[in-house]
Parts: sequence; C-alpha cells; structure tokens
Amino acid sequence: MTAADFQSQHHEQYQTFKQLGLKLDMSRGKPAPEQLDLSNALMASLDSYKAADGTDCRNYGGTIGLPEARALFGQLLDVPAAQVVVDSSASLSLMHDVIIYSLLNGTPGNAPWVREPVTFLCPVPGYDRHFAICEARGIKMINIPMTDSGLDMDLVEKLVAEDASIKGMWCVPKYSNPGGVVYSDEVVARLAAMKTAAPDFRLMWDDAYRFHHLGEQKLAVANILEACAQAGNPDRAIVFASSSKVSWAGSGVAALAASPANIAWWTKHAGIRSIGPDKINQLRHVRFLKDLPTVEALMEQHRLLLKPKFDAVLAQFERYLADVPGVSWTRPLGGYFIDLVTPPGSAKRTVALAKEAGITLTPAGAAFPYGNDPKDSHIRIAPSFPSLDEITQAAQGIALSLRVALAS
Ligand code: PLP
Repeated sequence: MTAADFQSQHHEQYQTFKQLGLKLDMSRGKPAPEQLDLSNALMASLDSYKAADGTDCRNYGGTIGLPEARALFGQLLDVPAAQVVVDSSASLSLMHDVIIYSLLNGTPGNAPWVREPVTFLCPVPGYDRHFAICEARGIKMINIPMTDSGLDMDLVEKLVAEDASIKGMWCVPKYSNPGGVVYSDEVVARLAAMKTAAPDFRLMWDDAYRFHHLGEQKLAVANILEACAQAGNPDRAIVFASSSKVSWAGSGVAALAASPANIAWWTKHAGIRSIGPDKINQLRHVRFLKDLPTVEALMEQHRLLLKPKFDAVLAQFERYLADVPGVSWTRPLGGYFIDLVTPPGSAKRTVALAKEAGITLTPAGAAFPYGNDPKDSHIRIAPSFPSLDEITQAAQGIALSLRVALAS
C-alpha cells in the first residue's frame, strides 16, 4: 500500500468513527463511578459525632482540623502532625488561599506580595488550574520546561537568583499532570537549597498524586519539608494534598503541611475566613481511611480499575500512531494523565477533529500558562472516567483525528 492509500484509509476510518455518534467527555481527570464506589463505606463510617478529644464535630471551631485528621495526614505525608492543617474539601482552595494571603498580607515577616509585581515559575506542561489561579490574581507566569527527572534546574536556579519578583513556583513532584514526571532526589535538593533573590519565595508543592501508582513499583519522592529545613530554608515549601482521588473527589478532605511558622501564619488568616472546617467529614474520613496501610490498600483497588484503561489507550496509540513521525506519548507510572505529543501546530486541530467525532478533550494549550502552548503540540488524555470500552474507542478516535489533522 502507498502512503497515499494509507492516508485515505485513515480518513475513511475517521469518517466511519464519526458515524458512531459517540458522546464522551474526557476533559477532566475525574474518578469513575466504580472508583467512587470503593469509598461508599464513608456513608456509614460514623457512629458518633464526637472526636477523640471530645470535640462535638457538629459545632463551630477547630480551624486547624481535628487532631486525629492531622495525625492521619501527618502519617500519610511523613510530616509531624503539628505541622499539618486539615481544612476544606479540596486542596486547590488551600493553594488559592495561600496565594491570596501572601498577596494581601505577606508571608511571615514580609511585605504583602501585591505591593510589587509578582511572578511565578510554571513547569510545563502543567496543571491548568494552577495557572488559572495565577492568571486570575494578576501573577505573571514564566514557563519552565520539564525533563524526565523533573525540571530544567539550571534555568530555575538562574531565574530565581536574578529576579526578586519571582515569589513562587508550582511543583507537582510525583506523577505530574499531565506528563507523569517524578522529581529526582537531586531536583528536590536543588529546589530546597537554591538561592532566591526573593526572601519570601515559596514552593507550592502539590502532592496530588502521592499514592496514585499505576505500576506495581511505588515510587517515592524525597521529603521537601525536611530538605528545605536542612538547607536552612524551613519556610520555603508548602505541601498540599487531599483525599479527592482517594475517596470522593467532590467530598474529600484536604491538607496543608509546612514549617511551624507557616502553620501559625495560615491558622491566623484562615481563622478570619471561617469559624472552622467540616469536621464531620474529617471524622468520617479518619474512621474510613484509618492509616497509611489502609490508604495504600484502597489505592491498590483504584490502581486495578485504572491500569487497564491506561493500557487500552497506550495500545490504541501504539496501533494507530507508532509509525507517525514526530508523535509520541508518555507511559506514566502513576497519576491520572497521558500526554500525547504531536508534531508542532497540530494539537488544536486534533482536538477539534476529536470534538467533531464526539470526544471532548481538554482544550489544547490548557497545560500551559495563558492557555498558550507555543508549539501547539500537547494533548492531555484523561483515561479515568469513561468505561474500558469507551476509553478504547475514544483513544482510537483521538489517534485517527491526529492522523487526519496531519494529513490535512
Ligand atoms: N492538583 C493536581 C496536580 C491535580 O491534577 C488536581 C486534579 O486534577 C488537583 C490538584 C485537584 O485537587 P483537589 O481536588 O484536592 O482540589
């Protein structure tokens, strides 16, 4: 068969695919219903509304979180419970509030960020909602290319040393969204120790996928709070995590871990915002998630549901795209995404063709600040929510869309 025959064959396959009238929304990395079912025991996990210290969880109070919830997240994050706050149902809101408090009030002992221009370093491709927070709050963003071991650290060190407007950096240290990158020990050590022109520089350490392995190998990332303390920068990192993709994404519990000074700072400002978090939800999560081994066993159940879906996408890409020059994709060891890398200038067109075929993807460019992928070459694939059959079909449709985009 000639190259032209091949192309027209794929065109026909794409047209046939369109006739299926599929309607699939893969725009976000949501847990599937059967994953949410794994935590249905949450509904019945409370036989009392009293916490261990006698707190009546139905009432106001406890800005910093229930002691047993802080102890649980302390164990999960490998941090002393005294350095943990449990608050809110989602870690994104904690990240947002850290930025707002820093902008309006300043970090401990420092002037409010908002008095001067503020810049954040943004590893790319990255999490669109991190970038949305910066954009909405007037923080300028600089792209930092990701590498297999984390980041272009030479560039990071150079920029933060030179520019005092760089007040922070987004980091997803394990199984990053969408590239699945895991930070090496060297990257963690350099981030903790690097010299920053801004004395109040913060690493926004989003440990969203700490337990979300896809392989049997469970990768670990060095402890950033310990690394920062050892390097003489104890207040540099703020760690965020949640049970969103452990229990229920819409009704989980979130945690923030940091130095004692940052915890005191957070508590002061969060106490103005609220008279206390949802302690009933915290208590039922403590009863249900119990401890690290229980969480790891639950995550193994998630893994067994997710792994075949990731494998199905990879198999379809292999089948339809292996011979296409300039096309590659990640084979993540954990997390929720596959990054499909297309030849420059073809990601947007592919997403549009997939949409015509009934598959809604995250907009091309979303993994970059301001929605602008300079090469227009990254497509975020979120295999978790559709059924195995649907995701297999969708991956085929995405691959055919890409082939058609490249031929037109
Ligand atoms: N951080 C990353 C890197 C994510 O990919 C997501 C969800 O996709 C979140 C945070 C959201 O976390 P939460 O539900 O705790 O706000």
